[in-house]
Amino acid sequence: MGRLGLLGMLVPEEWGGIGMSTVGFVAAMEEIGQADQSVATALQAHVTIGSLPLYLFGDDNQRERWLRPLAEGRVLGAFGLTEPDAGSDTRRISTRAERQDGGWLINGQKAFISNAGTDMSFGVTLLARTEPAEGAGPRFGSFVVEKGTPGFTMGPKVRGIGWRGLDTRGLYFDDVWVPDDHLVGDPDLGMSQFLKTLEVGRISIAALSISLTQAVLSMATEYAQHRHQFGRPISKFQAVQFKLADIATELEAARWLTYRAAYLRDIGRPYLKEASMAKLKASRVATWAASEAVQIHGGTGYLLDSPVARFYCDSKVLEIGEGTNEIQHLVIARTLGC
Ligand SMILES: Cc1cc2nc3c(=O)[nH]c(=O)nc-3n(C[C@H](O)[C@H](O)[C@H](O)COP(=O)(O)OP(=O)(O)OC[C@H]3O[C@@H](n4cnc5c(N)ncnc54)[C@H](O)[C@@H]3O)c2cc1C
Repeated sequence: MGRLGLLGMLVPEEWGGIGMSTVGFVAAMEEIGQADQSVATALQAHVTIGSLPLYLFGDDNQRERWLRPLAEGRVLGAFGLTEPDAGSDTRRISTRAERQDGGWLINGQKAFISNAGTDMSFGVTLLARTEPAEGAGPRFGSFVVEKGTPGFTMGPKVRGIGWRGLDTRGLYFDDVWVPDDHLVGDPDLGMSQFLKTLEVGRISIAALSISLTQAVLSMATEYAQHRHQFGRPISKFQAVQFKLADIATELEAARWLTYRAAYLRDIGRPYLKEASMAKLKASRVATWAASEAVQIHGGTGYLLDSPVARFYCDSKVLEIGEGTNEIQHLVIARTLGC
């Protein structure tokens, strides 16, 4: 994928990417996600939260040093926000970066970080508190910590219901010192920088969701055409037809919400609400459609070795990652003035 330029989809050619539109990125994710959700997830996390903070908020030296290898697909990118005690409530993170002469001393830990522990991972861009003293108004900064930096260690890869091919693990920072040039963007505005990046991440989870729904719709349709019961293909039973028709219709609705959010980003219009709506709708459709597709496969779909079961297992996390669906509700409600 690196050689094809896919790891630099949202980075301009100037910095080693292929400068694709967000609409193009969604189309690519739709195809890749139909083949394998773990690979597609590793890719989307790299392209969005793993690379965009450096592109959007880094200086030219940082772009040359870290963004170019990421965009050219030579290394894999990760972003560390979540902590054991701070998931949805991002402002509760306790990892701290303390200002020192010529650099920063980082202490804390991150949980559930994807792409940081593979052989081709370069390290992680993380969010840490930067207010000078406990009790001062909260401030946050983003820092690059490269693999091999003294004091930076990792836990084992976690095992989830799905996304089995994705590297996700805890990261530990014990008196990790990084020089000033590892601070990405403003030392106090890291949280708003990250939330901006997350908006694109939501479009990409929506794209993964529609790819999953398309995959299970194709599988269930083909299975229904070939599986015979009561002397005819089960696709001839209206109950099965209605399930397939419902999945196809909901998929189309989710697909256009997703492309619309991507299009708004491409033309420079606000897309916060649309990205959250796309993620909320598309992930709900994906988990429901995967369950219906397993139902159409009967016992065969229940077997862990069946492809439709793999998509079923991969679907649940789409309602959790990059902001749970409850958080998407909050974001959407806020845009309504609530
Ligand atoms: C496979 C995987 C990969 C991940 N990769 C990364 C990564 O690369 N980088 C990273 O930083 N993070 C990553 N995450 C973390 C992910 O972003 C968090 O799991 C997610 O944001 C939810 O946080 P939490 O798990 O702490 O749940 P919590 O925040 O503890 O939420 C628990 C439940 O409470 C609900 N809840 C919380 N607050 C509210 C509220 N105000 N109103 C209503 N309901 C609420 C939630 O919706 C949820 O249902 C990953 C997670 C997984 C599972």
